[in-house]
Amino acid sequence: MIRIAVLLKQVPDIERNVKVTINANSYNINRQGVPSIMNPHDRNALEEALCWKDQVGAEVVCFSMGPTQAAEILKEAISMGADESYLITDRLFAGSDTLATSLILSEALKKTGPFTYVFCGKQALDGDTAQVGPGVAVRLQMPQVLNVQRTLIRSAEQFVVQRDYRNSIETIAVPTHSLVSLCKHANTPRLPSLRGLFLCHTYQPTLLTNQELKISPERIGLEGSPTRVVNTFTPQLDKTIQKLKPENGQALFQIIKSKMNEVMG
Ligand SMILES: Cc1cc2nc3c(=O)[nH]c(=O)nc-3n(C[C@H](O)[C@H](O)[C@H](O)COP(=O)(O)OP(=O)(O)OC[C@H]3O[C@@H](n4cnc5c(N)ncnc54)[C@H](O)[C@@H]3O)c2cc1C
Repeated sequence: MIRIAVLLKQVPDIERNVKVTINANSYNINRQGVPSIMNPHDRNALEEALCWKDQVGAEVVCFSMGPTQAAEILKEAISMGADESYLITDRLFAGSDTLATSLILSEALKKTGPFTYVFCGKQALDGDTAQVGPGVAVRLQMPQVLNVQRTLIRSAEQFVVQRDYRNSIETIAVPTHSLVSLCKHANTPRLPSLRGLFLCHTYQPTLLTNQELKISPERIGLEGSPTRVVNTFTPQLDKTIQKLKPENGQALFQIIKSKMNEVMG
């Protein structure tokens, strides 16, 4: 049986104009009470897994590490067609950076695996580092294929994908037991089904705490996070906008010429 793990992160819903603020002492995002959603790229990772389920036959198992409110995106994943989900939550995990997060996620995957593939989003909307997927792959000693734009072949024998890489398109045959990260344009995520909405009404994800994962406390949370945010600031934009009418081609030419002279000295 093909088993696919999908990593889902809950992020602030900035597309709904939610104002994200930064804690002045810890420089972490203030997440308390902020409306949250499933990270958009992770939705594409989940859709890819659900396509495997529909077309080839696969069990889809979702994982999210976060506070208890992250259960909401796991319930949503179930309503879209996922089979099982795990909420990885513990006070000891709070404050984890990408190094610690990838350790915790990989230990959860070891405990509940093995998995034929691990899918995740290309990057998270808030942290935005794109480090967690590669971190998990390295810890699980899995090959990794990142930034996948489309799937060409999806079958029990072959998994072939394409990704944009340095101004060219790479076509890659993905070996089994690989981690694949997906982009927002990889597919169109489905909406929850009526049956799914009914199911997720009473559904609760299985909890995984550090009692189950047994990671030594100095490797997780703030203590296990060597990243230190020492300052955050909003960059000042020093650009001015000059509007030109279509008939002002000559003026545009002069502007480009003077800018080029400035650059070339
Ligand atoms: C000192 C410090 C303290 C921090 N404390 C916290 C904190 O308390 N809470 C917090 O949320 N963040 C915290 N962060 C931010 C944290 O580093 C990142 O949010 C988190 O590790 C994921 O990194 P990212 O957002 O860059 O994800 P990316 O690497 O951009 O994510 C790539 C993909 O990995 C998967 N993924 C990432 N994170 C998770 C997750 N948690 N669960 C499941 N899948 C995931 C998703 O599929 C995602 O699309 C802290 C950062 C620092 C430096």
